[in-house]
Amino acid sequence: MTSSQSKSERLKQSQLARAKALAGIDITDPTATPPPGAVLADQKELSHNNTYGRLPRFYVDKVVVCRHCGTEEVWPAERQKWWYEVAKGNINTDAVLCRACREIEKHRKAEARRIHVEGLKKKGLGK
Ligand SMILES: [Zn+2]
Repeated sequence: MTSSQSKSERLKQSQLARAKALAGIDITDPTATPPPGAVLADQKELSHNNTYGRLPRFYVDKVVVCRHCGTEEVWPAERQKWWYEVAKGNINTDAVLCRACREIEKHRKAEARRIHVEGLKKKGLGK
């Protein structure tokens, strides 16, 4: 391992540790004080959520465990805001794949589509 790799590994570990320390905060609690590094939520942008539950008031870096490989990864607060408020992700959805697995998944889907299209062509249906 080169020293630059172990440095980025150490950085990753400290980000994970920080995100884990924030996991106990209730981001929907109206009396909670957003911790340093929190990103304030715009609840107007969350109105697409048909939920009776409380909406978040702010986002903090969060640890997600990849559904495929079990890798723990930090989901940064700004990216959560983007996902929920810009991409209009449902508030009950979490990032479920790590970056590496998302890449693999993207290639797998593209490959499956290619094979499907080629299969149609062989049957003379894909024109
Ligand atoms: Zn993964």
